[in-house]
Amino acid sequence: MTTTIQHTLKTVFGFHQFRSPQQEVIERVVAGEDVFLVMPTGGGKSLCYQIPALHRAGLAIVVSPLIALMKDQVDALLANGVRAACFNSSLSADEARRVSSQMERGELDLLYVAPERLMQPEFLERLSRLPLALFAIDEAHCISQWGHDFRPDYVQIGRIRGLFPVVPIVAMTATADPETRTDIIRQLGIEQAAVYVAGFDRPNITYTVMSKHKPLAQLGAFLSGRRTEAGIVYALSRKRVEQVTERLIAAGFSAAAYHAGLPDEERRRVQDAFRRDDLRIVVATVAFGMGIDKPNVRFVVHYDMPKSVESYYQETGRAGRDGLPSEALMLFGMGDVMTARSLIENSDNPERVRIELQKLNAMVAYAEALTCRRRALLAYFGDQRDHDCDNCDICTDPPRRFDASELAKKALSCVYRVGERFGARHIVDVLRGAKGQRILDLRHNQLSTYGIGADLSSLEWDNIIRQLIHLGYLVQDFTRFGALGLSPAARPVLKGETQVILGLPRDVAKVEEKSRRKSGAGEGAHRALFEELRLVRKQIADAASVPPFVVFSDATLLELATNRPRSEQELLAITGIGEHKLRKYGADFLAAIDDYRRRAVPDDGNAGLCLALSDTQRDTLRLCQEGLTLPEIASRRGLKDLTIIAHLEELAAAGLDIDLRRFVDADKLPLIDARLEALGAVGLTQLKEGLPESISYSDLRLVRGAMCRSRPC
Ligand code: ADP
Ligand code: ZN
Repeated sequence: MTTTIQHTLKTVFGFHQFRSPQQEVIERVVAGEDVFLVMPTGGGKSLCYQIPALHRAGLAIVVSPLIALMKDQVDALLANGVRAACFNSSLSADEARRVSSQMERGELDLLYVAPERLMQPEFLERLSRLPLALFAIDEAHCISQWGHDFRPDYVQIGRIRGLFPVVPIVAMTATADPETRTDIIRQLGIEQAAVYVAGFDRPNITYTVMSKHKPLAQLGAFLSGRRTEAGIVYALSRKRVEQVTERLIAAGFSAAAYHAGLPDEERRRVQDAFRRDDLRIVVATVAFGMGIDKPNVRFVVHYDMPKSVESYYQETGRAGRDGLPSEALMLFGMGDVMTARSLIENSDNPERVRIELQKLNAMVAYAEALTCRRRALLAYFGDQRDHDCDNCDICTDPPRRFDASELAKKALSCVYRVGERFGARHIVDVLRGAKGQRILDLRHNQLSTYGIGADLSSLEWDNIIRQLIHLGYLVQDFTRFGALGLSPAARPVLKGETQVILGLPRDVAKVEEKSRRKSGAGEGAHRALFEELRLVRKQIADAASVPPFVVFSDATLLELATNRPRSEQELLAITGIGEHKLRKYGADFLAAIDDYRRRAVPDDGNAGLCLALSDTQRDTLRLCQEGLTLPEIASRRGLKDLTIIAHLEELAAAGLDIDLRRFVDADKLPLIDARLEALGAVGLTQLKEGLPESISYSDLRLVRGAMCRSRPC
């Protein structure tokens, strides 16, 4: 059986290996068992029911909450030559009839349905007369009130087990929370299901938190480094979304706003354009979420801090479903924390306030953490790691710590002197000796702490105060606009009895630069071809009215750009190209790669050189790069030595990195070098005079050619 599911994996989906735990899950379902699968976004849940659907007799029913997602899934399956359809309210009467008859005649392997449609009595009645392969319940947490996305329509699905006792059920979710998991199993009545919980780590996402000082400029700088990539910018309010979008558009970015206040039609337009790669950046409130399964979202920026770690994990999780390096950047400012806090405290349900404040505090702690972000994030979900990830801002640029006892003393005593009635900004002003009217009015310029911190910038003081809050020396009163007060822990610091160790603010530019190097789909020559292949993909997708990711994933394009296959056989070795896609798109992509190869230099060491090489020069170059000797190249090509030497000289002169001296016997080299040194750039005949007979004109040409290359002549 393993060989057959392996074969399907390869020939239909074009993948070479199962990811863990795909194979086990698939084997169980093929054998008719129930499975409950918890796997993070992008983990590869779909295959876990799609392959069994092809290995079991009858129709597989897939329940999915969102019509837009269904269509993408179906398109993706059709592109792989799998017989799939969806059945939902978006179909015309004609289409619905066609799908029905395909269903009845056994012409479908998978059918995607919305829960309310599935549970209609006449639909159930029709299903009961058909052989069924399995039920797959996608986004299964929607059935649970404990989940973050409860949908009443899902509750009815709980009846399936009773109605179809022998059809296996595969329930899938990315939800972390154990309570929700237990509830899903109970509601679906699949207590005997094998449970698989894959970890929550998303290793391809780089996590970065930056302190927020000029957020628009920071965002602009981040986006400028990623001119061709798609991403989402989350902001907390509609107003903020509108503002940021406006500024981005004015700065020439391809961006659009998305929030619940926009007309349905506009929201659909934005979502569609984004899916089709026609729009690069969506600035959104959290309303932009569930409907996004675009796999090539390369970055998620939190312009404002999310209100819980769960939301943060979920929102950042929309990046990099295709497994390629992607980024999660959060701008974090104390102001956001205060806004969030006051919003929460406005509620009159004290229990809610308590829970939400707790969640907010966890989020703040994450943002301020001086330890590996991934460890902190996974620890929050109960997955303790014992090593750092090397793929977050803290790991790549660890904050240095320093003894801040004196500085802390200054800040704390300043808070005390002003009467514990003022916020951080005012404290910083007093410390730095600012001359504003307010300071004068309050006579704070007469305090002993006035100007004692003039040697540090406001930014540095901000940072110190924030850490003092975080470490519990200062408390912020949110009912009084964030007024700072001393906690009991401040006393020993003021008395000089405790040491305070703080982290130095990290060099934001450095963090930014590091993250940039990690991101994106390849570098240099790969990148150029990648962009061309992207255009080919876009044309094919537009002609077929499907989103580009249905044609090929970015991961597939990247592999194409890196390996540059020359034949159908080589194409099949690329991840994501199965037999159907090979037939459908193979020729177009081979032609594009070939065309690129013709225009560009085939060796990546020479990226940037874009030469019009002739075919014959190119063939010589290839053999040369394979390490053949001069006589070997000549005989392989059926050409004279001198012709090959001419090619090599031309290639070297054109700037290609070719070692001409390699073609000359090593023991001849010193003699030729000495003669060249003595005579300089003279004719070959003159050079040859006085050298042993065994040294040929060819040898001289090659050595002279090599010299011209190293010093321009
Ligand atoms: P999920 O539903 O868990 O979010 P998907 O099923 O959409 O994830 O898969 C995420 C991505 O991983 C898709 O681009 C898919 O093609 C790819 N993928 C899944 N399984 C494999 C595999 N075994 N080998 C290579 N790529 C895979
Ligand atoms: Zn880390």
